[in-house]
Amino acid sequence: MRAVSEINAAVYTIPTDQPETDGTLTWDHTTMVLVEARAEDETGIGWTYGPAACASVVHDQLAPLVRGMSAFDVPAAFTTMVREIRNAGRPGVAGYAISAVETALWDLKARLLGLPLCGLLGQALPHVPVYGSGGFVNYTIPQLHEQVSQWVHEEGIPRVKIKIGGADDITRVRQARDAMGPLAGLYVDANGAYTAKQAIRIAEVLEGSDVSWFEEPVSSDDLAGLRQVRDATQIDVTAGEYGYDLFYFRRMAEAVDCLQIDVTRCGGILEWQRATAIAAAHNLEVSAHCAPQLHLHAALATPNLRHVEWFHDHVRIESLFFDGFRTPVEGMLEPDLTRPGIGLELRTPDVEKYRIL
Ligand SMILES: [Mg+2]
Repeated sequence: MRAVSEINAAVYTIPTDQPETDGTLTWDHTTMVLVEARAEDETGIGWTYGPAACASVVHDQLAPLVRGMSAFDVPAAFTTMVREIRNAGRPGVAGYAISAVETALWDLKARLLGLPLCGLLGQALPHVPVYGSGGFVNYTIPQLHEQVSQWVHEEGIPRVKIKIGGADDITRVRQARDAMGPLAGLYVDANGAYTAKQAIRIAEVLEGSDVSWFEEPVSSDDLAGLRQVRDATQIDVTAGEYGYDLFYFRRMAEAVDCLQIDVTRCGGILEWQRATAIAAAHNLEVSAHCAPQLHLHAALATPNLRHVEWFHDHVRIESLFFDGFRTPVEGMLEPDLTRPGIGLELRTPDVEKYRIL
């Protein structure tokens, strides 16, 4: 047995390039909790974008249990971690911490075997589509125009999502459509800013700009509201980014047209795969939420994948943090099959300045 010898967590805080606002929140920095899992002379990495408290859960509750377990039996480690945090509660901090450790263990296992992670999981797809994601509500119209144009016309990404939920949604949606032209896919995310009736009225207007994706029109905790909006519009209604266990995804699959899953929150790669199976049983596709570099290999192994979110903030961070960062070509991300695991190496000296713990 190749035993896990060490589990460590580091915390980094990275300022955004400018304050970012969506329909319900404003932020000016992002915190990343990065886990390293070691066995023999290999190190796997995983991470979550969550509070620094995730690192305490890793060190205090998860690492003592996972150390000494087989580096090959990731589902056993996952089950042990889930049992351990029962009283802390899985949603939020504890679930994010488990996700970071679990993905680090998959990266470690693939490295021990000398395989890319998608080779270990088995590929369903040769590459994965991405969609550009940003368009924050505090951007000026010229900024919005520039970002959308860059993705669609310069980088060749044929679909873009912008945030809505502010005062001038309709103008911004029309500006985004103008910037991208008639052929690209236009998506919106309200981050739960509306009531169901408000969202239905807005959806009627959005249909005029050929919007095809309406994310979290109401709070994702309001499943009846999501169903109400979904049943009233031709636009796909989507949610699931806060999903933390399979019961959540079973409930959510009944309320949406495309199930969003975040490997850095849901519990990791095994839970990603099980949640994608729940979606498949509802005849739904899935879309990966944020953290594109961490989702790539899991997404490649997913038959019912729609796409991966190319989120402005996380793209910036992951390009700073990792050698092996993959850039989409004509809207498609491809793995580097010559690199083991998830194919990324932390640029330790370069990122030390962001480290807070
Ligand atoms: Mg969202």
